Amino acid sequence: MTNVCYDTEFLDDGHTIELISIGIVTDQARGEGYYAVNAECDFERIRDHDWLWVNVVPHLPTTKTDWTDPNHGRLVTRLDRRAACVKPKWVIANEVRDLILRRTVKPDLWAYFAAYDHVALAQLWGPMSDLPDGIPMYTHDLKQEMDRLGVRSDVVPKPENVHDALADARWNMAMLRHLKALS
Ligand SMILES: [Mg+2]
Repeated sequence: MTNVCYDTEFLDDGHTIELISIGIVTDQARGEGYYAVNAECDFERIRDHDWLWVNVVPHLPTTKTDWTDPNHGRLVTRLDRRAACVKPKWVIANEVRDLILRRTVKPDLWAYFAAYDHVALAQLWGPMSDLPDGIPMYTHDLKQEMDRLGVRSDVVPKPENVHDALADARWNMAMLRHLKALS
C-alpha cells in the first residue's frame, strides 16, 4: 500500500471546479514531490477572486508588472507560461496518472478536506467514467480521520507557504504519518 498525499488549489464558483495547481507526495518518493500549474486556467478570473488573489496567486509563477489595473486596483499579473511547472492539463493528467499507477503499489489517496480535491483530481481525465483504471475512485479525508482520532490541526505545524499545493501536500503527509503513528 502506498500513501499518496496531494493537494489542489482550484477556482470554485459554486458551479464548476477549475484546477489551478496540484502538489503530490508519496511515501515511496523520499520527500520528492510533484508540482504542476494548469496552463489553461483562467487567470483573469483567478486574479479577480479575492481569496485566491491573497492566498494562492502569491505562490504561482507569475509575470508581474508595476501597472495597476484601475478596474480593480490590482497589479497586472499573468501566469508565467514559460515556467517549467506550468503545463497543459493533458500533460498534467498523463504525469499524474504515471506517478500514481507506475510509481506506487496499491495507491491510497489522501487529502485535507478532500471532497473538492478529489473532483479537481478526477477531472484531469474528464468525467468520472473516464477515470483511468487503477486510480482510486475516492480520496481518504485527513480531516475526517483527525476528527475520529481527536487530533487538532496544529499538532503538525502548518507550512509558512500554506496554500502552495506542494507545501500543503507535504503537510498532509506529515499529518498522515502522525495519525498512523497513533493507530
Ligand atoms: Mg492547499
